[in-house]
Amino acid sequence: MSTRRVPVIERIMGANDTQAADNRRIFDEHGVHVVNIMAAPGAGKTSLILETVRRLQGELRIGAIEGDVASTVDTDKVRAGGAPAVQINTGGGCHLDAKQVAQSLNEFPLDEVDLVFIENVGNLICPVGFALGEHTRVAISSVPEGDDKPYKYPKIYANVDALVINKIDLLPYLPFDLEAFQKLVRSLNPDIELFPVSCVTGEGMDAWTSWLQNLARAE
Ligand code: MG
Ligand code: ZN
Repeated sequence: MSTRRVPVIERIMGANDTQAADNRRIFDEHGVHVVNIMAAPGAGKTSLILETVRRLQGELRIGAIEGDVASTVDTDKVRAGGAPAVQINTGGGCHLDAKQVAQSLNEFPLDEVDLVFIENVGNLICPVGFALGEHTRVAISSVPEGDDKPYKYPKIYANVDALVINKIDLLPYLPFDLEAFQKLVRSLNPDIELFPVSCVTGEGMDAWTSWLQNLARAE
């Protein structure tokens, strides 16, 4: 039974990869570096984007493509933070695909930005399986989620360029072993960049924003 399904899935992935390559060409033509941000709901994707925009104001022009099942809440927040943003509502879909991103570009001012965050739908499972045309993939884990997530969702940790470990200001209050967590993540992905940060205290944010600036400069 399952063997019948495989060709269909491969065909869908093939079409998505073709569209992702088209998106990538458009981003490159505009000299824009694109970062696909993936995380569970509540890990702090929008907060990290907002704090990054605030810290790099005047140094790097940042925009955001916000993916959610419903609502424009996050897009409203990013626009209020002074960055151009466009919303994709997946209408129940649990991940963004390359076609949705392509459609969102019709109303996105690519000429006015140097770096674009694509905030994926909050989900640790399937977003990592769909290329969007991004140059860089970043996952966010947050301290309240617990330090066992890499055991449960190894694929996302193994297939991103960087991991932001958010809400480290809560480490004194929660049973999260930061050293063991980082070791576990590196066992899945030896080349991964790790950024323990707090958007509240600002700890670790300089390393994160410097890394982004270098990525954008290389574009
Ligand atoms: Mg969000
Ligand atoms: Zn999905």
